[in-house]
Amino acid sequence: MSVDDHLFIAVDMHADTAQRLVDEEVNLNERLADGHLDAVRMREGELNAQFFAIWVEPQFYGTGGQRAIERADSQIAAVHRLARDNPETWELATTAADIRRIANEGKLAALIGLEGAYAIDERLEMVERYFRMGVRYMSPTWTVSTIWAGSSGDQVGRTRGLDDFGKQVIREMNRLGMMIDVSHVSDRTFWDIIDTSTKPVIATHSGARSIANVSRNLDDEQLRAIANTGGVCSVVFYPAFLEPGWREKKNLVEIEIARLVREAERHTEGSPSQKRMACDRVREREFARRLPPVPVARVVDHIDHIVRLTSVDHVGIGSDFDGIQATPQGLSSVAELPNLAAELKRSGYSETDVGKILGGNVLRVMEDVAQDDAGVEAALK
Ligand SMILES: [Zn+2]
Repeated sequence: MSVDDHLFIAVDMHADTAQRLVDEEVNLNERLADGHLDAVRMREGELNAQFFAIWVEPQFYGTGGQRAIERADSQIAAVHRLARDNPETWELATTAADIRRIANEGKLAALIGLEGAYAIDERLEMVERYFRMGVRYMSPTWTVSTIWAGSSGDQVGRTRGLDDFGKQVIREMNRLGMMIDVSHVSDRTFWDIIDTSTKPVIATHSGARSIANVSRNLDDEQLRAIANTGGVCSVVFYPAFLEPGWREKKNLVEIEIARLVREAERHTEGSPSQKRMACDRVREREFARRLPPVPVARVVDHIDHIVRLTSVDHVGIGSDFDGIQATPQGLSSVAELPNLAAELKRSGYSETDVGKILGGNVLRVMEDVAQDDAGVEAALK
């Protein structure tokens, strides 16, 4: 936030905005009329650094293969282009030191994470390829399991953890200094990661299962395990993972609006991703009309829970902006991030604690996971 003080550098671990760069060719330097994030609103919200999640939808691009690789590469290229074409506003960052320097220069730091490792195409050497392209975290799966890693989003994930290749991927990420993201993986995969990784582990956009009992959230034992590695759970802003019962209400609304969504799909030209985006716009509008608002305080409830279980050193923020069709009231875009800081202070958190939660903790993890310059050079030989 205030750039004079290192404690107040704010880092959001997860937004899906890179797809908008590719599919809608949005100009992130102007205030966009829709969506949740652009440079103007980032400045209003005093967010210094954004991890752009590179998301490959397996139903459109596969869980591996050339199309998955191309889908990831096109989003990564778009983030690189954003920084290259707008050097007065953005700069690409790969380290905590980069983020601090860029924030102190009054610019916005753009970082890259892979959501679901489909684009590594079951090849170990691809992990290094993506590291070289600037990727600094990766989750083994999104909602679809692969042969080598189980997801929390499908049936097969219930019994699937990491196989030998999956464990090699984790060791390779440790070797390179790429953070391991457990958001979306199955419980079995989670524990295999904890057993395999020698470095701090993160969740980039998850909540506490003991408040909202959904498989995408983490149970108390898992939250403690992340803290024991020195890692951080960054709390997501999606009401379905924050508010008990919201998801069930949302599923009923999905049935009510099915016809509207189908019409939006039919009337949209373009790729499956572009059609899906048009459908999501309808969902966003209708969810806002038909579902009860969820207060910012609910985000703080999840943060509080993690702090009580562990300490204030193991929690962060991972909005999932531009990847969610509803937000808490008062967090409708990145511009409203100060409402979260205010709510934390109202709940008794000190300035120092708020700084840790909004970015300080993940900067520490980035430092712990990263190789020093000599180490990176050796790793990339
Ligand atoms: Zn996600």
